[in-house]
Amino acid sequence: MRAFVLTGPGEGSVQEVPVPVAAPGDVVVEVERVGVCGTDVELFTGELSYLQTGHSSYPLRPGHEWCGRVTQVGDGVDPAWLGRRVMGDTMLGDRVCRPCRRGQQHVCEHRQEVGIRGDRPGALAEQLAVPAWSLKELPGTVDEVLGALVEPGGNAWRAAHAAEVGAGERALVLGPGTIGLLTALFLRASGAEVHLLGVTGESLAFARGLGFHSAWTRETLPDLPFDAVVDASTAAGSPALALDLVQPAGRLVCIGIAGTPSTVDTRTLLLKDVTAVGILSGSPGLDATIAAYAGGAVDPRPLVAATVGLDGVAAVLAGGRPEGAGPGPKVHVDPRAG
Ligand SMILES: [Zn+2]
Repeated sequence: MRAFVLTGPGEGSVQEVPVPVAAPGDVVVEVERVGVCGTDVELFTGELSYLQTGHSSYPLRPGHEWCGRVTQVGDGVDPAWLGRRVMGDTMLGDRVCRPCRRGQQHVCEHRQEVGIRGDRPGALAEQLAVPAWSLKELPGTVDEVLGALVEPGGNAWRAAHAAEVGAGERALVLGPGTIGLLTALFLRASGAEVHLLGVTGESLAFARGLGFHSAWTRETLPDLPFDAVVDASTAAGSPALALDLVQPAGRLVCIGIAGTPSTVDTRTLLLKDVTAVGILSGSPGLDATIAAYAGGAVDPRPLVAATVGLDGVAAVLAGGRPEGAGPGPKVHVDPRAG
């Protein structure tokens, strides 16, 4: 079958690889749609920290935001999975350590991450093998585009949930990229007044097109009380800025990650009685995200700018925009498209 494989920093191509066979406990999925995200770009450029720590190494097949249809089940797997449309958790804990036994396998020290860490091939291929226990069934109202947006949506749902705001309250999201916009959509669905802070005119115009009319730059941001501030940016100074902007007794949520350490003055944190929360993974938010998409409370499909085949992945990872791409921040891949 065809798969996209990274062989070193800046080196990636479509290769012929063996078709996966479902091992005991696993399923094989025919992949319908895969999202390309910032982690994939860092795997391509060689900047991802896991490449330095040895958690990831080349050759490597990326792809962790995916959906598809189950075509094979291994020994011990309920055959009822066959034919079902599914997405899967990126985080695959060892299922024996203390965090795993507490239902927190996304922070398992020994975890694999599909398409990222621990030599677990990702979804940029015609077929993908994953453990059956990591699957989530997708209802009929969650199409392929939504299905591949469940994984990033799970991260964003958790960030919005951690902000703990609702009707009559105001939230600010720093960074109008995919995760920032998804978080803003979930915050809006919770009834909060949502503001976005960005850098480029293009990204802010796109946010306004989604109905976020309070989309500001640092220069135009109004002096308003924000009950929660979510940092979904990649700027090293953003966590400290978020702490400055949040109201006393408010919530500071960190889901963006910078290439260098971010410092915050914890005296400000405690003198303002602010609660700070870090979000690593979408795992605990996948079910809620599927429900929000299925019921129409949140529809992130406009975020997808273009859908390419496996042959188009290298150019996207190198920073190119597919021909005819819309203004959204997300590019999808359909491995059946060539
Ligand atoms: Zn574990």
